[in-house]
Amino acid sequence: MAEPLPPTRPRIPGSGLAKGLAVTLRTMTRKSVTDQYPDAQPDLPPRTRGVIGLFEENCTVCMLCARECPDWCIYIDSHKETIPAATPGGRERSRNVLDRFAIDFSLCMYCGICIEVCPFDALFWSPEFEYAETDIRDLTHERDKLREWMWTVPAPPALDPAAEEPKEIAAARKTAEKLAAAQTEQTGPTEPTGPTGPTAPSDPAGPQGGDS
Ligand code: SF4
Ligand code: SF4
Repeated sequence: MAEPLPPTRPRIPGSGLAKGLAVTLRTMTRKSVTDQYPDAQPDLPPRTRGVIGLFEENCTVCMLCARECPDWCIYIDSHKETIPAATPGGRERSRNVLDRFAIDFSLCMYCGICIEVCPFDALFWSPEFEYAETDIRDLTHERDKLREWMWTVPAPPALDPAAEEPKEIAAARKTAEKLAAAQTEQTGPTEPTGPTGPTAPSDPAGPQGGDS
């Protein structure tokens, strides 16, 4: 047999309204957590995946990004160009010249695979996100636009002070040191006279030479 229900308390007229107003008052005095975009720009993390920028000087048209893109939304066109031999009797070389590089952002899922696989550092994440369109077909952006976005890519974060020197910088430093050493070897005998002030002894002779 079902137990009888406990007696309900009598409701005070207007108590619901008072509770609602209390919640409204409490919320009104709290600091807002929303940004009034576009008047206030959002404070985005530095590595935000907003859009993809293309540094086309680095692109060798290897097609790796287009092949690895899971959505097949990267369109690349190119042609081959013959470069004449650098020396007489040498071989001509051919290179790929980029004609078109476009990304359809209506298909892109911002996975970043294209950026990861690019062996020549030609693609980068930009935090730019204001490129909404009213027509989905306008979301295919060509190389000029992708290049413009390249200039909004933030600089990479500073290296950890204890990190190993990047191999490109180490190689450049070693080459510069070798060149400096070779120059010192060539100009070695004249170097010691430098710090003693080679212009000082020649000064007195200078006016004489000028007079004659
Ligand atoms: S981010 Fe992903 S989906 Fe978008 S273009 Fe690159 S590989 Fe394709
Ligand atoms: S992977 Fe990099 S270098 Fe190769 S086509 Fe794509 S952007 Fe160009």
